[in-house]
Amino acid sequence: MEVHKPTHLVLLSSPGLGHLIPVIELGKRFVFHHNFKVTILAVTSQTSHAEAQILNSTLTPNLFNFNVIQIPSPDLTGLVHENDAVVTRLCVMMRVVKPAIQSIISKTTPRPSVLIVDVFGTEAIPIARELNLLTYVYVASHAWFAALLVYSPVLDQLVEGQYVDQKEPLKIPGCNPVRPEDVVDPMLDRNDRQYKEYLGMGNGISQSDGVLVNTWEDLQHKDLQALRDGGLLSQVLKMKVPVYSVGPLVRQPESETNPSTESVVKWLDEQPNESVLYVSFGSGGTMSYEQTTELAWGLELSKRRFIWVVRAPMEGALDAAFFTSGCSRGEEVSNYLPEGFVSRTHKVGLLIPEWAQQISILRHSSIGGFLSHCGWGSTLDSVTNGVPLIAWPLYAEQRMNATLLAEELGLAVRPTVLPTKKVVGREEIARMVRQVITDDENVKSNPIRERVKEIQRSAVKALSKGGSSYVALSNLAETIEG
Ligand code: UDP
Repeated sequence: MEVHKPTHLVLLSSPGLGHLIPVIELGKRFVFHHNFKVTILAVTSQTSHAEAQILNSTLTPNLFNFNVIQIPSPDLTGLVHENDAVVTRLCVMMRVVKPAIQSIISKTTPRPSVLIVDVFGTEAIPIARELNLLTYVYVASHAWFAALLVYSPVLDQLVEGQYVDQKEPLKIPGCNPVRPEDVVDPMLDRNDRQYKEYLGMGNGISQSDGVLVNTWEDLQHKDLQALRDGGLLSQVLKMKVPVYSVGPLVRQPESETNPSTESVVKWLDEQPNESVLYVSFGSGGTMSYEQTTELAWGLELSKRRFIWVVRAPMEGALDAAFFTSGCSRGEEVSNYLPEGFVSRTHKVGLLIPEWAQQISILRHSSIGGFLSHCGWGSTLDSVTNGVPLIAWPLYAEQRMNATLLAEELGLAVRPTVLPTKKVVGREEIARMVRQVITDDENVKSNPIRERVKEIQRSAVKALSKGGSSYVALSNLAETIEG
């Protein structure tokens, strides 16, 4: 009897948890739902404990047909400057490891038939072409961002001066316009090296055989249609690559939790339903001393319960922990939080330094809101668990995400000032927290909560057998298998 050999798929991930986690989850879906063999090539930063931990926990169950190969981040001495942005560093890293990628793919057995890269890996597309592989780009974010990314090379021709100085929003055919202050970080300064790198990523997508986006049809039908062949945007770009909405793909809770997560879950077990605010700024987010102080006071003034994943304040960059997530700098919280904060709030609040098992927290029924930097992974963690958000964007495409969540989808409240520009004051923070975590009697009359539950149901539907994302991935699997 002939034994069916699984199709071998290689997935390339750039450093950073917001890239690695959705790549792993996509790989698992190919293995579990479509019987593929998957090899993940994970370019790692090697300076992030959280990254190492996630890779370890992914490898430990020893999944059949699922393999991870780590490519250590190369030495960038002389290739980047000390103050180069995260995007520049990522693009240079991915460029330098190209020979390693080529060597691994050409030696790997059985011979892969397809390579899927994340948006920082588009320069590997020619390697795949040489090796006769199909190539796809996985945008681990939403369709409105994907639209801006592919349209940016055109905006580059159309718009004069800095994007942030424009008087009108930037129009994207078939999609909502993007306000100048909401543009992604690499578009903030057209003279910065990261801008050119970013334009390269946009161009790379149209050279691929297709795009996968971590969103779903019911959530972003308009943007997905604009991107698709015949859609307004694809017509302007003359882009014919198929678009597969395969999300929401989020990290699954681990079967074994560590002792610190167990104690957090135990604490949550003792709190009333939907009464706790979870506060976290993702893998890389950092804030100034002044903002950290206001946040602490805001939480205290709100008189609501909270879990806060705290990091020591940093002046300047808002993504300063990107390459070091999960590493403790060993600074006592009492050194930088307001005097007496810890003792005054110890009955209602938990502080977790640096990194938490977020998905195990957000799925707990005591969680009622998430004050988040709006990284797309965290956003999906929240929405798929029916948790409304306080949108607090810091870096990357997060200002767009916050606008999408608060203004288009009705899933979040947001401060009146942009946290990337001004300090959000304690009174406003307390007001937002109370708006999301209403008092016990008013829980049912919270429109944001109702809306999130509705979107949560549509996410479950999209991923279940016959749902739009399930079908999209099945169609892609069939195309790959020829
Ligand atoms: N995450 C986590 N614990 C933390 C912070 C983040 O498990 O303390 C996970 C989160 O579930 C998400 C990813 O790390 O999957 C972060 O990705 P996201 O897109 O939210 O933002 P980024 O960290 O890339 O800015």
